[in-house]
Order: sequence, then C-alpha cells, then structure tokens
Amino acid sequence: MSRGTCSLCGQEFAKNAMTRHLEKCRAETTAKETARKGGGPPTKFFHLIIEGRDLPEYWLHLDARADATLADLDDLLRRLWLECCGHLSAFNVGRDRYRWEPPGGFDDDENDFFDGLDEMFGMPQERTMDVTLADVLPPGTAFTYEYDFGSTTELKGRVLSEHEEPTRGKNISVLARNTPPPIPCDECGAPADWVGPVDEEDWEPRALCEACIEKHGYDMEMLLPVVNSPRVGVCAYTGEAAG
Ligand SMILES: [Zn+2]
Ligand SMILES: [Zn+2]
Ligand SMILES: [Zn+2]
Repeated sequence: MSRGTCSLCGQEFAKNAMTRHLEKCRAETTAKETARKGGGPPTKFFHLIIEGRDLPEYWLHLDARADATLADLDDLLRRLWLECCGHLSAFNVGRDRYRWEPPGGFDDDENDFFDGLDEMFGMPQERTMDVTLADVLPPGTAFTYEYDFGSTTELKGRVLSEHEEPTRGKNISVLARNTPPPIPCDECGAPADWVGPVDEEDWEPRALCEACIEKHGYDMEMLLPVVNSPRVGVCAYTGEAAG
C-alpha cells in the first residue's frame, strides 16, 4: 500500500488512511493556529484528492479555497508535478472541458482553431480555466486532467468535502503527498536514480542507478532524474519547477 506524509503534523500514513487522518489533523491544526494567532473571517475550503490516472501511487491531498480557480489548481499541479516545456493542459468535468490559456489568452486565430477542432470532433465547447472551484467542482465532483496532449500525463481527482477555516494567505495548499514509490534499477535492483528511453525507437522508460550507468557507460543525455511525480521519465520532465 502506498504511503504518504501529512504536511500538517509530519506523520506518515497509508494512502487509504490519509483522508480520515486529515479530517482530524486539519481541524486540530486550525484550532491551534486560531488560538495562537486569531483567525480571519471564515472562508469556505474544499478538500481535494488528486492522483495519477495510471500511476495512483502518486497522489496529493489539497486544501483549496472554494473561490480558487481551475487556473490556480493547474498552476499548482504544474509547479509540483508536471511542468516541463509549457505544454497545453485541460480539466474535464463531466462533459465540460476547461483548457489552459497562456497569460493574456490565445489570439483570435488560435481561438478559432480550437473552436474548429471542438466542432470537428463533436466536443462540447471548451471554456478557459478562469472559473472557480465552487462553480464547477462542488463537493462530490470527480474530474480528470491532462497535461501535454502529446506525451500526456493524465490525472484524476475528486472533491471530497467542504469546510470553513479562518482566511489565510494561500489559495491552495498541500495537505499530504505520497512518499516516493521505489523504482528499482533494471540492472541490479537497487533504487534507480535515472529513467529514460534506451534509444529513440524504444520509448519505454528504463530505470538505472548511478553505479550501473557508470559501469555500462550509458549515455546520460537520454536519461531523466527520478522525481516524485506521475510525469517521471516523460518528455523533458526534471522536477526543476517543483517548489
Ligand atoms: Zn497530520
Ligand atoms: Zn515537455
Ligand atoms: Zn543498478
């Protein structure tokens, strides 16, 4: 069973025990902070869980203000898990699709192009991510997310519940995150440090430790660092934007 760490108390729990722990831990932490610093006016927050669609050992619990936008959520996912080359991304909620836009938006030609695609594929009209979680992701709502429409990293998520907390600075904060799952070296079974395709034809990720890379003289240029993200080993993802 995948494990992860609660950001509030620093303790480790199994993935399937984290939701219950967080409900208790979050309430206790909020009460303590309010007693110490006093609280701002109460604000509505949503508790979200997000994981890799095909790699559920990568997961996050998030605490997001109900008035945070999908763009804010996209921003956090890119920073923590995904950003490599500024690829496009989109959220899917039921039949609705919300797509990423560059700062300042796409120009009219680009918008016409996307609208044309929607029409051609019989897709529902896409909207931008400038919508609030309260509007499109009420508690109980499931959603999916794609980053990069070429070498796509797919995520799935759900809004578990809502609660009120005194207002604080951050729009969205990480409540808990998975412990890095072990990726064994293909050659010796020790924890791998690098993953990557063996050659351009064979696009299967291959995991290697430093010692085996040195021993066999593998070309480092083709390899990507092992990072705690469902995008590990994909495209040019190095985790450097993580913060
Ligand atoms: Zn905790
Ligand atoms: Zn990329
Ligand atoms: Zn090795």
